[in-house]
Amino acid sequence: MRTEYVAVPVAQAIREDGVAAAIQKKHVASVLYTYRCTLACRHCLFSCSPRKPNVHVGLEDGLEYLRRLHQTDRVVHIAGGEAMMYWSALIDLCREAGREGVAPHFVETNATWCISDALAYRRLEQLRDAGVLGLLISACPHHQHECPAENYDRCFRAAVEVFGDRNVAAARLTMDELRDFEAIARDEERLADYVRANPPCLVGRAGEALARYLPDRPISELAHDSTWKGPEDHMACRTQFDPATIWEIHVDPYGNVTTCCGIIIGNARRAPLAGLLSGEGWLANPLVNVAYHEGPTGLLSMAVERGYVPRDGYPQKCGLCWEVRKFLRPHFPDILGPDEVYTVD
Ligand code: SF4
Ligand code: SF4
Repeated sequence: MRTEYVAVPVAQAIREDGVAAAIQKKHVASVLYTYRCTLACRHCLFSCSPRKPNVHVGLEDGLEYLRRLHQTDRVVHIAGGEAMMYWSALIDLCREAGREGVAPHFVETNATWCISDALAYRRLEQLRDAGVLGLLISACPHHQHECPAENYDRCFRAAVEVFGDRNVAAARLTMDELRDFEAIARDEERLADYVRANPPCLVGRAGEALARYLPDRPISELAHDSTWKGPEDHMACRTQFDPATIWEIHVDPYGNVTTCCGIIIGNARRAPLAGLLSGEGWLANPLVNVAYHEGPTGLLSMAVERGYVPRDGYPQKCGLCWEVRKFLRPHFPDILGPDEVYTVD
């Protein structure tokens, strides 16, 4: 059970400690607003990019998702992709949700849109006035490959002023550190060192673009690899598919509910969302069941039964999972999706 953080309700955790600390204590639940993004980061598990379909969560669906997500006692946010690409629809959703008392606690952004102080303050103040309490801003060498350091810095400063320091989940970075991120992104050797020191889960674009920096190892050595939120002490992926321990649960524009990117647990258009979010029926999903009990080696066995030829080694536990999932996808199109994640463009 989530014993370390179940005791304090999310609203109290945010009130007492702020959004950034509450995220760590209560974990998160999100509306994955769109798979489109202004960036196409090499480490992106969701394979987001500007080339993804022009699809985002609609107003009615978004309101319903937010109502249900708030019942999970997690910190609720709007994620992507880059939701700010659809600013007018996004602020409409936040305002309408705010009127109902279900505004997201925070919005996640890569700050590419922050091209002036005026725009940064205007949008962040409008989010705050709609009832949003904070902002999460991403920064790392992969983000700063295309997002200028100035945009991050501008967004961060405005967010701290608008929402208050403890409600901004973002690294406190100097311009020199941000410039260094830009430099790492453009230097093959430094990028390789960075990836080895900070390996992302090798799923989605990360699985295609960054696996080459990590050496293959025998499957027997992969069990303790870190996954989304730290390593498990076995090959099984129980943490990822137990509502008591998962780090994040998403609902995407198609109604797909996921905890581990690209493995659809269920769909809100076919089953009640409240049940899906609470874990009801998760283990009836054949791939979730295998991942929960056996992890990627169980998925590998399913693939071998269908003709997959294993390699001698893989660079990571999640990297093995990604390779096997790509093979299994035609056999389980409703579970291994959506297309956006598996089409790495
Ligand atoms: S990691 Fe974030 S900013 Fe980068 S492409 Fe993915 S969604 Fe966009
Ligand atoms: S091995 Fe697969 S199921 Fe397990 S955490 Fe990694 S991506 Fe998710």
